[in-house]
Amino acid sequence: MSDSENFTFAARHIGPDDDAIATMLATIGVGSLEELAKKALPAGILDPLTEDQVAPGLDQLPPAATEDEALTELRALADANTVAVSMIGQGYFDTLTPPVLRRNILENPAWYTAYTPYQPEISQGRLEALLNFQTMVCDLTGLEVANASMLDEGTAAAEAMTLMHRAVRGSSNRLVVDVDVYRQTAAVLATRAQPLGIEIVTADLRQGLPEGEFFGVIAQSPGASGVITDWSEVVTQAHERGALVAIGADLLAMTLITPPGETGADVAFGSTQRFGVPMGFGGPHAGYLAVHAKHARQLPGRLVGVSLDADGAPAYRLALQTREQHIRRDKATSNICTAQVLLAVMAAMYASYHGADGLAAIARRVHGHARALAAGLVDGGVEVVHREFFDTVLVRVPGGAAQIRDAAKANGVNIWQVDDDHVSVSCDEATTAQHVEAVLSVFGAAPAATSGRGAAPAATSGRGVAAGSEFDGPAIATRTSEFLTHPAFTRYRTETEMMRYLRSLADKDIALDRSMIPLGSCTMKLNAAAEMEPITWPEFARQHPFAPASDTPGLRKLIADLETWLTAITGYDAVSLQPNAGSQGEYAGLLAIQAYHAERGQPDRDVCLIPSSAHGTNAASAALVGMRVVVVACRANGDVDLDDLRAKVNEHADRLSALMITYPSTHGVFEHDIADICAAVHDVGGQVYVDGANLNALVGLARPGRFGGDVSHLNLHKTFCIPHGGGGPGVGPVAVREHLAKFLPGHPLADELPDEYAVSAAPYGSASILPISWAYIRMMGADGLRAASLTAIASANYIARRLGEHYPVLYTGENGMVAHECILDLRVITKETGVTVDDVAKRLADYGFHAPTMSFPVAGTLMVEPTESESLAEVDAFCEAMIAIRGEIDAVAAGTWPTDDNPLRGAPHTAECLLVSDWDHPYTREQAAYPLGKAFRPKVWPPVRRIDGAYGDRNLMCSCPPVEAFA
Ligand SMILES: *Cc1c(COP(=O)(O)O)cnc(C)c1O
Repeated sequence: MSDSENFTFAARHIGPDDDAIATMLATIGVGSLEELAKKALPAGILDPLTEDQVAPGLDQLPPAATEDEALTELRALADANTVAVSMIGQGYFDTLTPPVLRRNILENPAWYTAYTPYQPEISQGRLEALLNFQTMVCDLTGLEVANASMLDEGTAAAEAMTLMHRAVRGSSNRLVVDVDVYRQTAAVLATRAQPLGIEIVTADLRQGLPEGEFFGVIAQSPGASGVITDWSEVVTQAHERGALVAIGADLLAMTLITPPGETGADVAFGSTQRFGVPMGFGGPHAGYLAVHAKHARQLPGRLVGVSLDADGAPAYRLALQTREQHIRRDKATSNICTAQVLLAVMAAMYASYHGADGLAAIARRVHGHARALAAGLVDGGVEVVHREFFDTVLVRVPGGAAQIRDAAKANGVNIWQVDDDHVSVSCDEATTAQHVEAVLSVFGAAPAATSGRGAAPAATSGRGVAAGSEFDGPAIATRTSEFLTHPAFTRYRTETEMMRYLRSLADKDIALDRSMIPLGSCTMKLNAAAEMEPITWPEFARQHPFAPASDTPGLRKLIADLETWLTAITGYDAVSLQPNAGSQGEYAGLLAIQAYHAERGQPDRDVCLIPSSAHGTNAASAALVGMRVVVVACRANGDVDLDDLRAKVNEHADRLSALMITYPSTHGVFEHDIADICAAVHDVGGQVYVDGANLNALVGLARPGRFGGDVSHLNLHKTFCIPHGGGGPGVGPVAVREHLAKFLPGHPLADELPDEYAVSAAPYGSASILPISWAYIRMMGADGLRAASLTAIASANYIARRLGEHYPVLYTGENGMVAHECILDLRVITKETGVTVDDVAKRLADYGFHAPTMSFPVAGTLMVEPTESESLAEVDAFCEAMIAIRGEIDAVAAGTWPTDDNPLRGAPHTAECLLVSDWDHPYTREQAAYPLGKAFRPKVWPPVRRIDGAYGDRNLMCSCPPVEAFA
């Protein structure tokens, strides 16, 4: 590498330099990275470099840009967008993110680089924040149990649908959906209902329930038209007829109006976007799902609960983990894995910062603006359709809707055209009296005489809307119950308190800003600051997903670039960025396969072959599209059992829809038979789904679209640097060959897309985080991307060599090589010594490290994925810790320490448990806290001791515990 090359972005992103790589290669026993690639990957799929020494496909990428150049290009793309005043509503509202939250959460790597809290002892900070989120949702919806976030409002509605279907267990497959739910919600419901045989009956529920049987009812409060309906009567009647009711509820409105739980509804769902999370052209933001206590065990997604640690102190961890799709596989009822943790944390902290009275004041102000708007319109002789509304005013303008919409646009305000005769105007936290005036002027109206400027009723008297003379609609403030009374929502109301609260929570966790996170299958690589910076620029962040296309040419160019680059990298022909997690990409991909078979007159093809080693989401996604999952065995070496595969392909030949196979495998190996496997499936008319979540081992080396895949999803939050955010956001693009392109996700509200197959609420899913992946590809260029893959593979093989002497490496490929991760097998150790994977994982925290992936895909093992971003020094320190732990295991085996009292079983050790005078364990306190000496690394003090998960599941508690619990 020349001097100038040291300043390329790739040299900053990739941890090991040339010398370090030489050291690694020597340990592995190969002469070069190229030789390593030839040994690790099957010759049949490894792409030879072009004449110009570039990886095929990647030659279509622009040459690598520096950070400064990429940011300049992104700035130009941002500048091409227009940030209009958005009064479109329809589920997306402008909001004012408190700067203390933007800076200390969204822009803070301690929060955004964390992983899903599977190791709860070093994740107490984000678990507490998520518990606040759950408590907030419960309080505002009036229901007892809420999960820790959904992907968006549309998919939350779909999960509500399947939850009710399951809970009722009746004979009916009919779901009644009110006409006044958001169109994107109805679209996602339609997509998800069809393969499950659920029939959706659309009805105007204000006129009563339709005839016939049905298992559930879905309505919205307020409705898409803005109207507030008291649903209690509908709930009572639905219950009498044996059906459940789910209400889509706007949480800001719920500070004023009677929440779903108090009307008897069984389920509430919706979005928390307007709690301080920018619209972001559609995402990401946290959806939510809340249920009555009796349905708690049916709730999909992750649920944070309170339990106790080994010293009896309250501690948080994910509750009811056995419900997760990883365990239930094809019996799963949901495939959600990555959710929206970072955005849920923001929404929860927004509620903490404003408190109950602050939120209600914002709600009253929003409502006041809407009333002022309605008053001005009525005074001006314009017809306002509903009298009961919160923030959205529906206006009747016979034949003139498009004209009014365009005139508002010319005045700098985007409003929503409902149909030829109606527009709706939504107020939000950012609305001002000037905005209201600007809209009124479009109708030739002016602020109503009595309303006065600002029109916001004084935010003083109780929770109700202050009596206003400006609009004679009824007072909507029907809520009488209290909410957000827990100290989590009263203590942090000043910036100083909030700043310190966020810092204290982050300090409890291990994120990438403290150590490597060697989680196999998760690809915890660098999320560079230059990649992250643009996502908060208002030109990207403050865009409504249904804004006129003319407002967002820069974003659309960015999306088109990314689609092109991803097709080049994967060898496919078309990509959709709509799915907002890997699971959703899987779902969209399988839908495309299904549609393709149906179009060819073979709708009966419904068998999906899935190797036993697959990620749990694979089987869950297949179940959700109504496929029959047939499991293919693996051989002793971890590879797919070719004989079993061929037998099952032949057995189901006429009914075979797809094979879902992860490549490289979830065992961290490049299977050499992949081309044969794909051919066998194609020979009988099946399609091949290559799960591309492990693409970090393939970019620039092999292309799934060329070695046999018909469709893949990628995880931009793994390979392409979107941070994991503690368990979301994510983007799970689905990439397909030409013949499947027309079945990619569409959206009813995006002119350029077909109407069908919406899998997310927004046309481009979590669009506002796409600049991260754009910047990564732009700055790495073809050579950087390929070098990253090779380095990731080298690093994993180096670890396999160094640790292989101490822990058996479970699976390797033909030449003894692993791919980008390796599985350390502890089963024999456990059998002989009693020391478990849990003990090792928890003990690593005492050494200052985050544990590898535990017991996935093989129980009793640890899967290590270093990624290319970790330096050799960091990788070596991890190896030293693991080797030292092996020494501790040997001491247990030798009887130096008893099986039930040793530093492994006692791990992790808090400062509190060591700072005692009556220490009576057979190991010393120094051994507990500083096993490799004080100079080894900065000490991480876990805030709690080992957590008893089962206790918490027996005593389920999923909202903030009383403060006395911590006394
Ligand atoms: C991470 C992962 C998934 C699921 O992706 P999410 O974004 O969490 O839904 C699927 N398959 C494999 C192999 C994975 O590693």
